[in-house]
Amino acid sequence: MTPQNDRFWETKDLSELTSEEWESLCDGCAICCLHKIEEEKTGDIYYTYVSCLLLDNSTCRCKSYENRFSQVKDCLKIKLKGFNRMHLLPESCAYRRLSESKNLEWWHPLISNDPNTVHEANISIRDKAIPEENVHPDEIINFVFFKVE
Ligand code: SF4
Ligand code: SF4
Repeated sequence: MTPQNDRFWETKDLSELTSEEWESLCDGCAICCLHKIEEEKTGDIYYTYVSCLLLDNSTCRCKSYENRFSQVKDCLKIKLKGFNRMHLLPESCAYRRLSESKNLEWWHPLISNDPNTVHEANISIRDKAIPEENVHPDEIINFVFFKVE
C-alpha cells in the first residue's frame, strides 16, 4: 500500500475526490455486503450476520466485483456522484464518517498503511458472517447484528 502523505480526505470534500481517491476510502470491512432488513412499521434498518452470495468471507472480497450489479440486484452502488444512501452505511465506514465530518480511525488502511488493521481491530466481518446459502430467507431475521443509527 502506498503511504498517503497528502491526506486528501482531510483537505477535500467528498465531491472533489478523484475516482482513485474515492475507491481508496473503502477499508475492505465488507459490512455493507451483509443482508439488511427493514422493520415495516418504523422503517428502521438492521444489518444481519448473513452475507451476500458473492462475498468471500475469509478475505472480505467480492467474488465478482466487476459484474456485481448485474448479479446482485440490491448490491449498494456506493459511487462518487449522486450517492444519497450514506445513512445505510455502518458508522465505521469512511464514506459515512467523512460525510459526517468525522476523521478516519487508526485502523483505516490509509492511516495505518496496512490493509490488515481493519481486520485486526475487529471492524471487518472476516470469518464472522454466515453465507446466505446457509440460511433460509425466512430465518434471516434471527441473525440481527446491529441497528443502523
Ligand atoms: S462499509 Fe464502507 S468501508 Fe466497509 S466495505 Fe462497505 S463501502 Fe467499504
Ligand atoms: S455483490 Fe459483491 S460487493 Fe455487492 S454486496 Fe455482494 S459481495 Fe458485496
